[in-house]
Amino acid sequence: MRFADLAAVYERLEATPKRLEMRAILAELLRPLRGPELEEVVYLSQGVLRPEYEGVELGVADSLARRAVAAASGAEEAEVGRRTKASGDLGRTTEELLRGVRRLDATTPLEVRGVYAELRAIAGAQGEGSQEEKVRILTEMLRRASPLEARFLVRFVVGTLRVGVREMTILDALTVAFADGSKEARAKVEGAFNLSSDLGRVATAVAADGLDGLAGIGLEVGRPVRPMLAEREPTLAEVLARMDGTAAVEYKYDGLRVQAHLPVSGPPRLFSRRLEEIGAQFPDLLEALPRALRVRPAIVEGECVPIDPDTDEIQPFQEVAHRRGRKHDLDRVREEIPVSLFLFDVLLAGDTPTYGLDFPARRAKLEAIVRPSERIRLATQKVVTDAASATAFLDEAIAAGGEGLVAKSLAPGSSYRAGARGFWWIKYKRDYTTGLTDSIDGVVVGGFHGRGRRAGRFGAFLLAVYDPDRDRFPTFCKVGSGFDDAQLAEMPKRLAPFAADATPPGVETGVAPDAWFRPGLVLEIRGAELTLSPVHRAGLGAVREGAGFALRFPRFTGRFRDDKGPTDATTTGELLTMYRGQIRQEAPKGDEERPA
Ligand code: AMP
Repeated sequence: MRFADLAAVYERLEATPKRLEMRAILAELLRPLRGPELEEVVYLSQGVLRPEYEGVELGVADSLARRAVAAASGAEEAEVGRRTKASGDLGRTTEELLRGVRRLDATTPLEVRGVYAELRAIAGAQGEGSQEEKVRILTEMLRRASPLEARFLVRFVVGTLRVGVREMTILDALTVAFADGSKEARAKVEGAFNLSSDLGRVATAVAADGLDGLAGIGLEVGRPVRPMLAEREPTLAEVLARMDGTAAVEYKYDGLRVQAHLPVSGPPRLFSRRLEEIGAQFPDLLEALPRALRVRPAIVEGECVPIDPDTDEIQPFQEVAHRRGRKHDLDRVREEIPVSLFLFDVLLAGDTPTYGLDFPARRAKLEAIVRPSERIRLATQKVVTDAASATAFLDEAIAAGGEGLVAKSLAPGSSYRAGARGFWWIKYKRDYTTGLTDSIDGVVVGGFHGRGRRAGRFGAFLLAVYDPDRDRFPTFCKVGSGFDDAQLAEMPKRLAPFAADATPPGVETGVAPDAWFRPGLVLEIRGAELTLSPVHRAGLGAVREGAGFALRFPRFTGRFRDDKGPTDATTTGELLTMYRGQIRQEAPKGDEERPA
């Protein structure tokens, strides 16, 4: 397939906001494709080169891309920068600049497979001289590209492809292109994706053999499963009502979610909630897991938290965060701040997948296969049937260092719902009923120059939440407190990969920061309460026309949510729930203990 044809499709996709139309355009694009070419088109359309869990990154910052654009178009780099600032889109600017330029080689058109291979080469360039190599490859491609091709090529490279093709839309299109487009077919396609976390793989399977082809996509040790997620309810009585009066409640450990894959032989592999491989940070768990599990292969899930070696008490999460990036003195850290993994689920035990079992059967299986040890333990659990016992359990969980509880349905149908947020699991954190003590995960989209002691660096940041329905990042606060000097000093480096010249695509705000950032870095924030704001756009109009949500007295908790991507940030829907939850606190005390 010609790359020009793909670019033309992206242009059409960009022009339509309608999901159905997008689905049709994409289905038409994918239908004739098979094998590696199909896989590559699917990844490219997602804006990635490989399934995200493989962590293949292009590593091209905006500044490098500008250099290539300048070289290919003959414009000065400063000119490229100026124009990009005005257009807000390096892709468009490239397109315009190339329009007046005679193409070096217009006779051999770019092919999708060739472009993909070159992009892989860009990603593969590592170490000394790699920056030059990346620029060189990109420049050469741009010299051969038409202006329209260049628009999308550049956008892909700087990570703002944004033709609006989200995973869910691609799943829709695959269902239409290679199956009958029905709801049932869609559920099967999505199910295969949730188990494999690999859209390219799902695409080639369904293209080759229709829905039957998906049967071959099961759990695979070493390939992360998209995690099951929890909903929330404002009171424990409502939590229980959702679960028809009976639920298993478990401590909600505040740490890092870990999905551990144990192959038949060889070391375990650990994946984060974002499906990133994190085993290197936890040699102690890699050592302890094989001894603690009675069967192989196995896939188990739990929360990893720091433990005080003297008191055996759970420590604040920040202690685990210290393990990031500290490769050389990991040995010392693991002695000073050991971690324990509190297991709460099992997806595969021996050769039998268990994710399809109802929760009581999975828990029984987990208990049967785990030999608890200091490092590997089971999540504390109890079955409750009334709100008073649930409240007592909550107090116990918090006293033990948890941040709340997770209630789990025991009902038929309570299988492990990979990739889904639903009421089969409901999280309930402390103090929902006494003010806004629940934290918010906000994504940085802007920075403000500091003053006084903070002069010369950023002193505050503009934060957004995620609106999944519209795929936008509306802002909700400006936060400057809670950062210590070291954290403030490292912010520019953390934000550098996301630097943007103008309001990044998808960001919505009435505030003008000194610098813009594409959504990427997620911070955990606490605040006193949610109020309505004329300048912030989160949940615009949800409560009152023209008003969005704003967080009063926001404060960084000190926790970088590196385990969350921008679309894992708190959602506008969650803000609305929290906003309503605050109003509930005015209900008479004891209301939450009303029998379900
Ligand atoms: P949140 O990250 O606030 O959406 O809360 C859900 C998260 O709680 C899960 O992704 C887990 O990382 C964590 N968690 C802690 N303890 C448990 C538990 N017992 N069961 C399920 N999830 C838990």
